[in-house]
Amino acid sequence: MANALVIGSGPNGLAAALALARAGVSVTVLEAQDDIGGGTRTVQPFGDGILVDHCAAIHPMALQSPALAGLDAYGLTWAWPELDAAHPLDTGPAGLLHRSVESTAVGLGADASRWRMLFGGPSRTYDKLAADVLGPVVHLPRHPLLLGRFGAPTLVPAAILAKLFSTEQARALFLGTMAHAMRPLTEILSSAIGLGILTAGHHDGWPVAVGGTQAITTAMAKALADLGGKIETGVNVTSLRQLPRADVVLLNLAPRAALALYGDEMPTATRRAYERHRHGPAAFKVDFAVEGGVPWKDAEVGRAGTVHLSGGAAEIVANEKAVARGRLPERPFVLLGQQYLADPSRSRGNVHPIYSYAHVPAGYDGDATEAVITQIERFAPGFRERILDLHVTSPGQFTAANANYINGDILTGSKTPAALVFGPRPGRNPYRTGVPGVYLCSAAAPPGPGAHGMVGFRAAQLALRDLHVHADAALSTSA
Ligand SMILES: Cc1cc2nc3c(=O)[nH]c(=O)nc-3n(C[C@H](O)[C@H](O)[C@H](O)COP(=O)(O)OP(=O)(O)OC[C@H]3O[C@@H](n4cnc5c(N)ncnc54)[C@H](O)[C@@H]3O)c2cc1C
Repeated sequence: MANALVIGSGPNGLAAALALARAGVSVTVLEAQDDIGGGTRTVQPFGDGILVDHCAAIHPMALQSPALAGLDAYGLTWAWPELDAAHPLDTGPAGLLHRSVESTAVGLGADASRWRMLFGGPSRTYDKLAADVLGPVVHLPRHPLLLGRFGAPTLVPAAILAKLFSTEQARALFLGTMAHAMRPLTEILSSAIGLGILTAGHHDGWPVAVGGTQAITTAMAKALADLGGKIETGVNVTSLRQLPRADVVLLNLAPRAALALYGDEMPTATRRAYERHRHGPAAFKVDFAVEGGVPWKDAEVGRAGTVHLSGGAAEIVANEKAVARGRLPERPFVLLGQQYLADPSRSRGNVHPIYSYAHVPAGYDGDATEAVITQIERFAPGFRERILDLHVTSPGQFTAANANYINGDILTGSKTPAALVFGPRPGRNPYRTGVPGVYLCSAAAPPGPGAHGMVGFRAAQLALRDLHVHADAALSTSA
């Protein structure tokens, strides 16, 4: 029986381990922290009963991910808020994102036909499109026409694409989602990640995992245990000398950590590419325990699982540009989560967890707590009075909790146009490190960040293919 080591137990590490174990490979996962899950953990900083997602919170890409298929048998269930997302404005009603393209379009008035045009076709066929979207950009597409229809708009920078719309609601709703990429929105391909999220969301909604995102990790760990896979925690792998012999090694690591382990054995091209791999802006997270929820000025916002706080289109574009240049704007982009609306099991009575993080420059070491509260107050006056407790995770604390989040970069690498197209290194296969039997399977590789597990799934498929090739070669030599 072949054996495999997976270093890191994030969703991609666990997805890789599961795919290998399902194929009959004996798998051991080594995790540096005392808890497994990386970006898919849920914590209780306000005491028992109030569940707070440490990192990943919303999962529009999860339902079509083969890496997460079958986990309902291990207790993973999804729940949906009434509205997927909202973008409140200083004046006028908020932009509201429904799962249905039609309901969203109708709410956007003069921009209804443009929203339908952009999202109607791709979202209807997302179940087919997902096979192409949830993988490397450079590949032989299964559905070339559908992919072409989806991919063409991504060539237009998000800030320009937003000008398709005439209302501030539509522009802000659109750009607020594009800002998830944490890149300047004037750049080519800056709409790629956001268009993926909106298209997937119009097909499957923006669900949360019941019981917290941790439920994804718990389900994967149980499924792995059933297949005989092992997980060892508290093992920070910093040297190859720590590793037992294995037929394949999958690195759920940032390229820099992969370099530290295997740099001496890597071909020059991979080593140089990993050395050049750049990290992006950081998150400054503030979780709140709030009595009675957020008193939104526009009551509709109180029905949305996710809220983007960054004013209108011009402000969103300026904010993302400033952060990429290393400057914290006075009113930074804040993503706020009200996961308890879909999953009331996260609250304690009338005290609800409110999740929020601001986009801040890489390595930001100041305190953005007040900026976050002020940004929420701007659209929900009286919020401050409802705060019973708060818990901060600074960029430095993100790095301490997960070495992949260098300088607080929660996306495991800046999503530059080159990184989006090729992943961490140019070449035919972004999961290969150039060291035989060693593969990269972190969010630094395509399809990139998210709790969908697809990087691990694809890297494991490649490793299995290579194992079979070697096994077949050994058989034919011995025959
Ligand atoms: C604040 C925040 C909000 C987010 N929101 C969302 C969201 O709403 N939806 C979504 O889909 N995604 C979201 N993400 C992104 C998502 O969490 C990540 O993209 C995803 O977790 C990456 O998965 P991964 O398996 O590549 O690695 P990670 O989850 O980063 O896990 C890597 C694991 O490897 C371990 N490790 C690192 N170095 C070593 C070593 N040397 N030895 C042993 N173990 C090691 C780490 O401890 C960690 O457990 C968010 C992330 C953050 C931080």
